[in-house]
Amino acid sequence: MDAKRERFLEEMGLGPVWKLRGRTRASAAPAPEAAPLEPPQAPIARGEPRSAPRRPAEPPRFAPVAGLTGSVKIDPADDRAARILRMEWPELKSAVKGCEACGLRKTCTQTVFGVGDEQADWLLVGEAPGAEEDQRGEPFVGQAGRLLDNMLAAIGLARGENVYICNVLKCRPPGNRNPEPFEVAQCSPHLLRQLELIKPKLILAMGRFAVQTLLGTESSIASLRGRLHRYQGVPLIVTYHPAYLLRSLPDKSKAWEDLCFARHAIAAL
Ligand code: URA
Repeated sequence: MDAKRERFLEEMGLGPVWKLRGRTRASAAPAPEAAPLEPPQAPIARGEPRSAPRRPAEPPRFAPVAGLTGSVKIDPADDRAARILRMEWPELKSAVKGCEACGLRKTCTQTVFGVGDEQADWLLVGEAPGAEEDQRGEPFVGQAGRLLDNMLAAIGLARGENVYICNVLKCRPPGNRNPEPFEVAQCSPHLLRQLELIKPKLILAMGRFAVQTLLGTESSIASLRGRLHRYQGVPLIVTYHPAYLLRSLPDKSKAWEDLCFARHAIAAL
């Protein structure tokens, strides 16, 4: 393991746990049924170019979970949503900038649209901007964002390189309170259109609000992890929110498992 990657893993609280000895499975925790989870065997090259030939079809290793489908429900009679769903990037960006649909724009500093490669294979979805994101206009730039960057680096990815990061809400809720259902409903067409334009190979839903919004379930993150879900046909993996991981060290290793699972999944697509 190279020193840089080892440092990232240390920062995630994974240091010695993930030292590889031969081909032993690295986690003491039982692997989820759907797929074996192993840490990468060697430093991984940064996101493959999209033009790289896709792997030949392999036997499906990740069964989609029956009965769970996307929950961002767009009413076809809703003109605003229908308009948003026809927008191209420039129009969508200015629509978000000028959006006053839910009222959050009145209290936030600026909207936080999203950042990264607009043709990324990986789409990471969080909850809503916090204080630093609100100031800088970019998602996940605070403490949780630094952890997220380290987690990505540990699997050979980087913000902006084959990765797109955004939130369910584009405006900061005052005092970082939880998003309200009405706010999520008003902002969802923006997220859905981002997804349609990016056409990612895989969505990583981070935390309760991303999961509830995309999968339409109140089930716990713990019960949804380790399986391949789908949103609008796009494979989706559930993991903990980085801000939660900052408070809950033991779950960092589970988030690492989720990332390894995601890497396996994307490689098998
Ligand atoms: N938490 C989120 O969900 N998103 C951010 O952009 C920052 C913190």
